Amino acid sequence: MARKYSNSLKKRFNKTLLLLVCILVLPVVAYGVFELNSLTVDERELETIYERQLESVLFSINQYTQGKVSEITSSLDKRTDFSNADQIKQELGTHWYFAALAAKGVSDDFDELYVSSNAKFGDDFQQKVDSLYQANDVLVRRLVRYKESEFQKLESNDAPFVYNGKEYDFFFFVVGTGSEMKFCIYIYDAISFIEQTLVPKFQEITQGDFVLTCSRISDGFLVYSTDDQIQGSIENEPLDLLPKYQVGIARVGGTVEDAVNKRKNQNLMALGLLMVVMIIGIALVFFNIQREMELAQKKADFVSNVSHEIRTPLALISMFAETLQLGRVKTEEKKQEYYDIITKEVARLTNMVNRILSFSKIEADKREYHKEPLNLNDLIQDVINTYSYHLNNNGFTHSLELADGLPEILADREAVVEMLVNLIDNGIKYSDGQKHITIQTGLKGSSVCLSVIDKGIGIPANELEKLFEKFYRVPKGDVHNTKGSGLGLTIVKHIMDAHQGSVHVESKVGEGSTFQLIFSPEQNHHG
Ligand code: ADP
Repeated sequence: MARKYSNSLKKRFNKTLLLLVCILVLPVVAYGVFELNSLTVDERELETIYERQLESVLFSINQYTQGKVSEITSSLDKRTDFSNADQIKQELGTHWYFAALAAKGVSDDFDELYVSSNAKFGDDFQQKVDSLYQANDVLVRRLVRYKESEFQKLESNDAPFVYNGKEYDFFFFVVGTGSEMKFCIYIYDAISFIEQTLVPKFQEITQGDFVLTCSRISDGFLVYSTDDQIQGSIENEPLDLLPKYQVGIARVGGTVEDAVNKRKNQNLMALGLLMVVMIIGIALVFFNIQREMELAQKKADFVSNVSHEIRTPLALISMFAETLQLGRVKTEEKKQEYYDIITKEVARLTNMVNRILSFSKIEADKREYHKEPLNLNDLIQDVINTYSYHLNNNGFTHSLELADGLPEILADREAVVEMLVNLIDNGIKYSDGQKHITIQTGLKGSSVCLSVIDKGIGIPANELEKLFEKFYRVPKGDVHNTKGSGLGLTIVKHIMDAHQGSVHVESKVGEGSTFQLIFSPEQNHHG
């Protein structure tokens, strides 16, 4: 595509483009960067919130567990009589997670107390408990020290305690004061404890806002969950008093990360869509501007062409008229020659002005057509009669190939003459070697058609579709030297459109062109 702009137009074009990019693209990119950045900040904030939530949930559950267990230890602490094992057993047995209690005097004057909830927890069970005493000797002494300073502390650890294939949990504590001080181990079934004590608490805490779970650390066995469906990953923390178990927190409907990612993707998609819309918008504006620029360029060329075309005949007319006026032309022959020149130039001027008027009428949508039945062959004869002189003058020969028996067409006579003259004029202007023009009529199906054929310079194939655009002229060195306005074919096309017809061009560079006007069969006049 040969686009030639003047330098100032090119500069304006580049400036507009830069402005467009600045106004539209930069804010979107800036917003995109800001949005992505804020997303990562949001993500971090949300994560922190969840970590904090887990911490506070854990704190409250640990406190609660501690409270529940303290109920057991403090009632034992208050007890002065440890001689009635049955009574103690009855008291502890109210909790169905209770397995066994063993108490040993810190000083030697108390025999060991051992109560179990199950008769099957016999001697071998007691031996296992004893071994716990031995294994935690240091702990025992520490708890005693705490107790001496009036602080009853509970301790547990995650050492395995398996009896008959079942895993038990335990915690150590000290009861009594002075010589009455006893060291105790409380053995219980942690899963039952969780189910009986913690589950109601879990439900109270979550209230459907998030999912709380409790699971065994060693094998991930899920003891309890406030929701059957856990999506995404769970944040877990072990419990203080039940170190073999952990509490987990998860979002209802996915983890924080999932939520943030989902939002991120949605935002990115929206941003992408915005970008695409922006780019399409910019492209549209860009092409529009480009078209406007081309038109502006063509208009500028048009003005310079037309000025030139008007100035030349005016100069010639004024020069010859002056010469005649001053009476300097002696012979009658010379005078006649000058009159001819003046008439010819006036005709050229009129032609040019008429073309511009015709075009401006078309542009303003004010052109009216008065259709009447026309015999195309007769019309061509008339035009050629007045035009053959002009043709011969320019060194052209012509031939007419008019088909017999053509139906008459309904058309505006003046407009058809205008088209014919325009096409013949072009044939004359754009021929250099072989100067011959053929005018043909015929039928194409039931459509009447009229062709003007020259053997001139021809038109490159890629220019063909643009020929009919207003002001368009094939940009080629020597063609630009030929005078013209770029309006002739625009007018032809418009007239044919108004007659529901069409214009076809066939052309080969260096061999010539054929312009064919095809009238629609609806325009055929019957009788
Ligand atoms: P103008 O002839 O005033 O420039 P037109 O609208 O009549 O404007 O034609 C547009 C362009 O098409 C011309 O500038 C010329 O380049 C090309 N053209 C038109 N007719 C012919 C033809 N018969 N042979 C070669 N080129 C042609």
